[in-house]
This record gives sequence, structure tokens and C-alpha cells, in this order.
Amino acid sequence: MPAKNSKLYVIGVDSAPLWIVKGFAKIYHLKGFETLLKEGNLLDMQSTLPPLTPVAWPTIYTGLEPREHGMMDFFAIDKEYTKQLLYFDSDKHTPFWDALAAKGKKCLVITPAESLKLSKSKNVDLITGWPLAPRFSSKQIDSAAKKFGFNGEPDIEKGLREGTITVSEASKRYVKSMQSRAELSKHLITKNKYDMAFVCFTETDRIQHFSLNNKNWEEYVMPLYKSVSDFIEWVILRAKKEGAAVIVVSDHGAQPIKKKFLLNAWLVNSGYAELKPAIIKSIQDSYNKSGESEAQANLKYSLREKLIKSKARGMLYDKLPASAKRLVGKAIGTALSSGSGATYTHIHDFDFEMKGTVAFTSVSNDPVGMIWINDRRFSKPNVKDSEKRKIKAEIAGRLREIKTEDGKPLVTKIYDGDEYYKNTKLFIAPDLLVALREGYVADVKNYSLNTLFMEPELAKSGDHMMNGIFGSIGQFDSKKIKRGVSVLNVEPTILKYFGIKCEHSDRSLIK
Ligand SMILES: [Zn+2]
Repeated sequence: MPAKNSKLYVIGVDSAPLWIVKGFAKIYHLKGFETLLKEGNLLDMQSTLPPLTPVAWPTIYTGLEPREHGMMDFFAIDKEYTKQLLYFDSDKHTPFWDALAAKGKKCLVITPAESLKLSKSKNVDLITGWPLAPRFSSKQIDSAAKKFGFNGEPDIEKGLREGTITVSEASKRYVKSMQSRAELSKHLITKNKYDMAFVCFTETDRIQHFSLNNKNWEEYVMPLYKSVSDFIEWVILRAKKEGAAVIVVSDHGAQPIKKKFLLNAWLVNSGYAELKPAIIKSIQDSYNKSGESEAQANLKYSLREKLIKSKARGMLYDKLPASAKRLVGKAIGTALSSGSGATYTHIHDFDFEMKGTVAFTSVSNDPVGMIWINDRRFSKPNVKDSEKRKIKAEIAGRLREIKTEDGKPLVTKIYDGDEYYKNTKLFIAPDLLVALREGYVADVKNYSLNTLFMEPELAKSGDHMMNGIFGSIGQFDSKKIKRGVSVLNVEPTILKYFGIKCEHSDRSLIK
């Protein structure tokens, strides 16, 4: 058992993968990470499904699975097929700092991602985190933040998307906010006697989204890792003097993105989802305008797949000229070309004809795509309970047949939503979770008749991957850690460190 008065430091780094912190530690003099590697542990940590910030951080904070804390994505999809914004409710699901505060422990919590509420306990000094502007638990914390020029992660993502701020400028601004966060944290840690301090850096996620597939990505990304590493180095030195322990965690990893896979386009072109006639017409018009022969040919290929499935498409087929009908009839399989003729149309949830839709995807773009079967949980169901299992198996089977443009299987693993979410009542759970090969991200917002792939936009230059990191120095059980760590281990480990029993104490990584 750890000493009664020992302290704990927890450092969060949003979206940090092992391949960056291990692979580049030497080159960029990341001493903090190097010390973890040499003197402690620094390993992969399994994230949630999907590996997304609003899902994984609440699991780290509470030790609960997504089906228990209710955060399945940034959004849930309701009965009427409409996206509803989700937010983590720290009043309902107690984060570790409130559990510690209830036992009289004094805590410092700086910008925890996705946690937007101030604590009700006087034992918690807190600045709320991304994605909203920071709020401060007291005037003292507010004025300390002002003194160090810290006002949360700079709100520049929109500017990055719109091109009014360059990735290089963004990198510099992010480094500045990370350094001021670190200096503020050092000041507060030194000044006050905290039992536990948790400092969370979120800028790393943003910069990676906008740069990882760029050949200059290191120039933009690594200065941010250097800032985190310098802070970790300072914390480890202090912890050694105090006999304290240190934990470093990220909610998921990150990877460069080569291509987006248009999951909704695949569902439509494979006959599982149906678009409304108006949107089909606008798609056809855009193809006719393009006048490309390749596009026309590919259109016919894909139309064949579409037309054989539904009445609405049968009507479209009737309107085609006879020559096109012949071509469509001859075409075999799905055309997977991303040649020059590719034309993309933005689609929304309301563009689907739900009466004719068997399965659809929605919410966020992510390396793990989510598919819902349109059953009686929704207002216009099209699948009977008795058919559901068979349809899920059929879709999974067909997804496994999809090849990337260089001929490799696109899908690496398909998870069953019933097994992962265990009939949660907190949201309408996806039925299939489709993990894609390295370098691919599932897109839900674009449709194309002649290709299933698309170049990622700037904001998807990088995206997440399943594994984040777990680093530790102190009184941890190395054998247990080597067996594999997941986001579910963090909260029970922190509570056990302070001798507090919780529901999942068996998941603790403390000796
Ligand atoms: Zn994240």
C-alpha cells in the first residue's frame, strides 16, 4: 500500500500515440517522455470505441464504459434520425477528482477535455476544459491564470478550417497556450498543497488533425510535444523529491490519413440506404454537367447496383436512355474508382428516405465507422427484429470484402454493438462498429456514385487511432501494466493509489 500522504500527478495529452512519443523522443529531446521510458513505463493504452475525445476522456475520468456514462460520440442519434449534442455530466458520473475531494483530498484540475462543469467541492481548484471557453473555480485561480496569460486552448480551429490562420501560426499559438498552462500549473502546484494535480493538454489533438499527412508535420507537431515533455520532466523531478507518483495518459492515438472511406456512399450504393429523390436528382444533374465520359460510365456501373434494389431506383432506371440501361445491365460488381471523374455531394441525415433504408451511418467521421440498423428503435423502421441478425451479418460480410485502392482489405475489425453497448438505455446504440485499416477514416457526410474514397480535407490530415499512451513512474504494478492497459484502468488506479475502494478496484494498476 502506498504511504498515506503520498501525492499523485496526472498529465493528460489529447491524442498522443506511442509512435510519436517513443519514436521521436530522442530526436526532439523529449526528456520527460525519455525518463518515463527509462525509469517507468510508457506503453500503448487501448481507447474506447470509437476512439474519440468525448468518449474516451469521460471513461478515463470515471472508470465507466461509454454505455454507462452515456458519451458515445460528440452526438447521439435520436428516434427521428436527428443528431443530438452530448455533453459529459460530471454531476451524474463522478470524475476521480470529485471522488478524491469527497475523501478530503485537495485537487488541482486544469482544463480536463470534455468536462465543462466546475466541481461542487471546495477541495477542487478547477479550470474547465475544451471545447468551451474556460471557467475558473475561484477568483484566485482566475487571477493566477491571468497572471500567466492562460485562457484555455486558443479558439482558432475555425480559422484553420477556413484558411485565415496557417498551420504554422496555429502551431506557435498552441505552443504558447501550452507553455502558459504549464507555468500556471507549476505555480499553483508549488504554492498550494495538492494531493492530486491533473493537467490536461488538448492542443496536440487539434494540430495533428490539421497536419499529420503533411510532409512538414514534425515542424508543426513536435514543438507541442516538447512543451508537454518539458512539463512532464518538471513534474517527475518534483515527484521524486516528494515520493509521489506520476501518470501520463492520452485518450486515443493519432495517425496520418491517406483517404476517407465514404461509408454512407457504400451503404447507398450497396442498396442498404436510400436517398430522397430530390437529392438523387441533384447528384445526377451534377454528373450530367460534368460531361466526363469516365464519370458517366462509372455512374452507370453504380446505378446498376442501386437500381436493382428498390422501387425508387426502379423509377430512375426507367428514365435512363436505352443505351445507358444496357450498360447498367452489363456492369458487374461495384466500381471502385477514384479517377478524375469523381464527383462528391454533401449529404445530411435528412437526405435519407428512411422508409427505404435498412442501415445507415451518422454522427462523426472517425477511423471506426458506426452503422445503425433501421429497426423499431426509430420512427420509420424498415427492419424487423427477426431479420436484424441476418442483416448485420450480411453487411459485415460485404464490408470485409471491400478493398483499398491498392488492393488490401479496408476493414480490419467489426465489433458488434450489442456486445459493446449491452443494451444501454442511455442512447440508441450503433449495431456495427467498423474499424478501418491504418491511414483510412470513415466519412459520413459525402456521397459519390463513382467512388468510395476521397482525399481528406485539411482538418482530416490526421485522425485518431485506437491506441493512446499510458506512462507511469512510482508504485505501479509493472507486470499488470505489461499485460495491457486500457482507458478503463485509469480511474480505479488513481482511487486505489489513495486507498479508496471503488466498483472496479480489480482494474487498478497499483501494487
Ligand atoms: Zn482526443
